[in-house]
Amino acid sequence: MRFILLILFSIYSFGDGHIFVYHRFNDNRYPTTNISLKTLRAEFNYLKSHGYKVVTVDDFVKKIEAHEQVPDNWVAFTIDDGFKSFYTNGLKVFKEYGYPFTLFIAVKYTERGYRDYVSWKQLKEISKYGKVEFHSYGHGHYGRMSSRAIREDIERGLSLMEEHLNYKPNLFVYPYGEYDERVSKIVDSYGFKAIFNQNMGAINRVNG
Ligand SMILES: [Zn+2]
Repeated sequence: MRFILLILFSIYSFGDGHIFVYHRFNDNRYPTTNISLKTLRAEFNYLKSHGYKVVTVDDFVKKIEAHEQVPDNWVAFTIDDGFKSFYTNGLKVFKEYGYPFTLFIAVKYTERGYRDYVSWKQLKEISKYGKVEFHSYGHGHYGRMSSRAIREDIERGLSLMEEHLNYKPNLFVYPYGEYDERVSKIVDSYGFKAIFNQNMGAINRVNG
């Protein structure tokens, strides 16, 4: 059984649950993808004082697989791309509140040691508090890449994650939220439990 969740850009609802997508934390260089720790704490305080229950996206997937309604007070947090500011700034707030999260990494930036991205060592530390999942190797535009290049990208990323983190990722987020029938067929063949798209402005389930 395979599920594809098509997800609205920044906060979206599934059933009545909510998933928040973050990128950078306290990094004013990129205002459109940044959240300050002050705003983050305000969001967490709001959720805490209004009876929301923080779960993981895995919990959402399990509910959907069981054909059950996602409770309307469920919230899950995801973080895309693996920017270093999650490790240096954001993580401590998640730890303060004891909130789990799922971090989707573009493996190349970690593997090549790009300054703005988390290192493998930091990912090991991060994975004590949340899950680390897959957001491609090179964060390319899959819609413009050959099928062979897409396969190579996925396989390179998966094998590096297995090598460094010792498990095979279960969840995938399309880079730029871009896919079409050809791309999704390729990605589907890798057996992810769920595949997320963030730019569609719609929420849907394809039960294959
Ligand atoms: Zn991304």
